[in-house]
Amino acid sequence: MARIQTPNRVRGTQDIFGADERRFARVLEIFDRVRKLYCFQRVEIPMFEATEVFARSIGETTDVVSKEMYTFPDRGGDSLTLRPEFTAGIARAFLTEGWQQYAPLKLATSGAVFRYERPQKGRYRQFHQIDAEVIGAPEPAADVELLTLADQLLHELGIAEGVTLQLNTLGDAETRDAWRAALVAHFEAHRGDLSEDSLARLDKNPLRILDSKDPRDRPIADAAPGIDAYMSAEAGAFFEAVTRGLDAAGVAWTRNARLVRGLDYYRHTAFEFVTDRLGAQGTVLAGGRYDGLIESLGGPATAGVGWAAGVERLAMLCEEPVSPDTHIVIIPANADAESLAMSASAELRRRGIVTQTNFRGNLKKRMQRADESGALLALLVFPDSMVLKTMRTGNQEPIDRQDLATTVGVKVMEENGAKQGFLPERGFAFPDDEDVE
Ligand code: ATP
Ligand code: MG
Repeated sequence: MARIQTPNRVRGTQDIFGADERRFARVLEIFDRVRKLYCFQRVEIPMFEATEVFARSIGETTDVVSKEMYTFPDRGGDSLTLRPEFTAGIARAFLTEGWQQYAPLKLATSGAVFRYERPQKGRYRQFHQIDAEVIGAPEPAADVELLTLADQLLHELGIAEGVTLQLNTLGDAETRDAWRAALVAHFEAHRGDLSEDSLARLDKNPLRILDSKDPRDRPIADAAPGIDAYMSAEAGAFFEAVTRGLDAAGVAWTRNARLVRGLDYYRHTAFEFVTDRLGAQGTVLAGGRYDGLIESLGGPATAGVGWAAGVERLAMLCEEPVSPDTHIVIIPANADAESLAMSASAELRRRGIVTQTNFRGNLKKRMQRADESGALLALLVFPDSMVLKTMRTGNQEPIDRQDLATTVGVKVMEENGAKQGFLPERGFAFPDDEDVE
């Protein structure tokens, strides 16, 4: 019989396991904690939308819409697209679900997004984003709060060192039109040296050239005029209010007058948190103000500002969290001890004790595994008795079945204390008590 060939993982997707998964989970956990500190409500939105949700809002000439979307007709013939980002779907929901009544609305979400890109380190076809949005607040204070949230998140992840907030403004319509004309003049003068992609952008969307990754475009883009000479008084005042707010909130930033974003819907504030620790994939978190987006989806003029960050890129910067804390490993000495072991582990877990069972192996093997796991305690279970071993000291003591949960509960507290420097056998004395009068 022919052997069945195992299908491969699809290119650009990932199976996340072990230390990578612990880092990944930690990013999501800390994001969830920090977004609650800022009173951002969690929302869930669909993985796919009508294609026009993204095509209309993100912009036809962007890389995302022109080359990266997973678009397919479903069985009913409708054109659907797997979400390449969250903002457009959230804006659609804001309009179709009547969320306008709650504005200003502070929202957060996370999950998988899909882009047909060339896979490499830190760049996948299915990846994960965390996302924060404020809809219905035209005030610069909303930009400041979002950026402060992002900054606190990076600090709590322990990766703020080496990550810089680059900030720009894309101005209002008046500012953009004037800047756009200056950019066109600059790029026209270098027409012969631009990549084909950028030549195509020159007519439709010259700002996009500033964001090009093509090495032929970079020197021309880097020498392009910045926005400041074209700034209207109003746009200037808005940006000034944002930077003043950031200074007041203690958020460090640097100006990058040529920063634009990969999506078309941004106005005023645009920003990226950038690191040089991830090679070419150095942008970990990015976003800005998108006051035109809701209108592009047929809604009333509505202000919005938001950001998204790649969970994988954040996770790659993080330390692996300390190994998961197993309190106790249950080890039946032989087959006859299995039911007592099961009753013991069931009770301990109901009492909130983190309990590991390994299903197989002889006593010696299992003890060795318990040692390596970093567990605090091991419980050796015999058909009619049990022995509690403290891993740190090697001490073993018989315990009664009916005292199990209490004895283990106290031991776990003592051993966790010992980890932090309190040695139970010496009492809970501070090491240098003698010095204190
Ligand atoms: P890049 O310039 O790296 O392509 P982008 O401007 O397309 O990024 P955004 O659309 O702003 O990215 O998405 C926000 C964040 O999502 C990025 O800052 C990055 O951390 C992450 N990200 C974007 N594309 C990918 C990808 N293909 N794989 C992994 N993470 C990604
Ligand atoms: Mg991209």
